[in-house]
Amino acid sequence: MAIISDINVDANSSRMDQALMQQSSQPDIKPELAYAIKLANALHTRLNLTELIQLFSEEARHSVPHDGLLYQNTDYDTEVRVGIESPNSCAYRLLIAGKNLGEIQFSRKKPFSESESVQMEYLLASLLNPLHNALMYKKALITAMQDPLTGLSNRVGFKQALEREADLAHRHETPFALIMLDVDHFKAVNDNHGHLIGDCVLRDIAQACRECVRSSDMLYRYGGEEFVLLLSNTTPEGALLLAERIRRKIENKRFEYGDTKLSTTVSLGVANLVAQENGEQLLNRADKALYNAKQTGRNKVEKAKAAPK
Ligand code: GH3
Ligand code: MG
Ligand code: MG
Repeated sequence: MAIISDINVDANSSRMDQALMQQSSQPDIKPELAYAIKLANALHTRLNLTELIQLFSEEARHSVPHDGLLYQNTDYDTEVRVGIESPNSCAYRLLIAGKNLGEIQFSRKKPFSESESVQMEYLLASLLNPLHNALMYKKALITAMQDPLTGLSNRVGFKQALEREADLAHRHETPFALIMLDVDHFKAVNDNHGHLIGDCVLRDIAQACRECVRSSDMLYRYGGEEFVLLLSNTTPEGALLLAERIRRKIENKRFEYGDTKLSTTVSLGVANLVAQENGEQLLNRADKALYNAKQTGRNKVEKAKAAPK
């Protein structure tokens, strides 16, 4: 996007915040500034990034009509689109105390006038602090869902995805599978080589699983030495093949950390979503299958029993 202007305020006081403080002492405040203050108040109530950008577009349309808005922030790998992109555009880089908050572009059929660009700068100044808050909130949510050891999404992220993906599979009538994986005798790895080596093994098992799956498959650290895979659009045969591929990959892997060399194995339970079943029930069946794999020798894949009628 071709930036025409930077919108930058310092961290503690934006133009809008200063205006808010002066509001009571200046009853004859300019209408465009008064509108921007009202907008700032409304924006401060939103923490969800998409909702915030949508609200901004909706409100800004009253004073600077536009057909489309595109917000991008590469630091957060985020993009929000509102409306329809049109040929004429004006774009701004958003900054707080020099810190990048992303770029925003407005577009419409008719070119933007000079006075509209100035008005938009006023409006954007009121977006900066709420946008900063929404980005920090988003970061906190991502951190809360991420396992720091493996970089995988954790149980919080998994629980959200499980019900969402199971619902989607029912609605679209597509096959859906879940694989639960548990490292065999992992306690012995810690006991024999120490927790730091144990941590390295867990990180490398996560990586080995990543290398086996498709980009659409969702891998989570369920807890301790347990991992779960959610496989949308995957048949029972496909899920069993994948589980077996992972099992073999770990079995053949040599884990080497300096002078420490070791190998390990994993057990896996595989379940496929059936009619009327929810995510939790699917997870329970995969867990039982995993338990069977452990009971019948470990280093193996077990298929879940059919769901009770
Ligand atoms: P099984 O084959 O029956 O699964 O035996 P196991 O030893 O793997 O299972 P158990 O539940 O007895 O032990 C799991 C071990 O995993 C114990 C725990 O200390 C270890 N563990 C869990 N989370 C971590 C971790 O983040 N790092 C390390 N190093 N160890 C962990
Ligand atoms: Mg376990
Ligand atoms: Mg285990």
